Amino acid sequence: MTYYMIEEHTPAYKVTWGIKDIIHIEDTPYQKLAIIDTFEFGKALVLDDALQTTIDDQFYYHEMIAHVPLFTHPNPRHVLIIGGGDGGTALEVLKHKSVEHIDLVEIDEQVIKACIKYLPELSCSFADPRVNVIIADGINYVSENNNKYDVIIIDSTDPEPDNPALKLYSSEFYQSVHKCLKDDGLFVAHTNSPSFAFGRKAFKEIYHRINAYFALTKAYIVCVPSYISGYWSFTIGSKRYDPQQNYRSDDTMETQFYTSEMHRACFVLPRFIHELIAGNKGS
Ligand code: SAM
Repeated sequence: MTYYMIEEHTPAYKVTWGIKDIIHIEDTPYQKLAIIDTFEFGKALVLDDALQTTIDDQFYYHEMIAHVPLFTHPNPRHVLIIGGGDGGTALEVLKHKSVEHIDLVEIDEQVIKACIKYLPELSCSFADPRVNVIIADGINYVSENNNKYDVIIIDSTDPEPDNPALKLYSSEFYQSVHKCLKDDGLFVAHTNSPSFAFGRKAFKEIYHRINAYFALTKAYIVCVPSYISGYWSFTIGSKRYDPQQNYRSDDTMETQFYTSEMHRACFVLPRFIHELIAGNKGS
């Protein structure tokens, strides 16, 4: 039996996924949650009909959201992940021997439970003694914790109007992140896809919100095959270390995508993204 999931990136651009099986589906207090088995990328987590991560290509995103900031910090010990309920980002952070403790703040406990049951390849990270899962809104958690973390990773859903992730892209939140970081801390967030007009507008607005609070703001891009919008951007806000200049390289780490060469290359941006960053171009 073949099912099909239609994933909408814009009302005029949708992608159809062929599905072998719908493994689990439920309405949580925050979103519609599904675990599906796709023909092309294996098992996947879907929230509100948006594909979040697949077992076959999760490493593109999770390695690049974790290792770029962690290799930028000279000695990351305390890490905060906001969102990350599938466990994939935590799995990458755990590869850094200097990391002593990871707080993972996920608003939806059902995501944690479903991923423990159906995506153990990623959620196995929750069993590591260094990982502390906290069920809470990242907005409140960050505003209540100051000067605590070396690296903060915002691994949330996209900022949709009716989604708890929306305020994770606000100026107030970035101001709280700045206070939640130690004096030489840095944070990273995924910042939409500049491949589409609405994504370019969102990227430009988010980048400049971050840049208002952080001495060093740098964007980098990755192509994630299962993300239907092509380019995917990440933006780092750093109090001291420049992710393009000060980074350690350790090509002995077990990765499939991240290397020190990829760390360097991902910051090479096309001209239109430089122009969005310079602010002298429309979206
Ligand atoms: N890796 C995926 C991606 O590439 O976008 C997303 C990872 S994870 C599944 C996203 C998580 O962010 C969801 O589980 C969602 O419940 C969580 N989330 C959204 N808003 C949040 C908030 N305000 N505080 C904490 N977690 C939040």
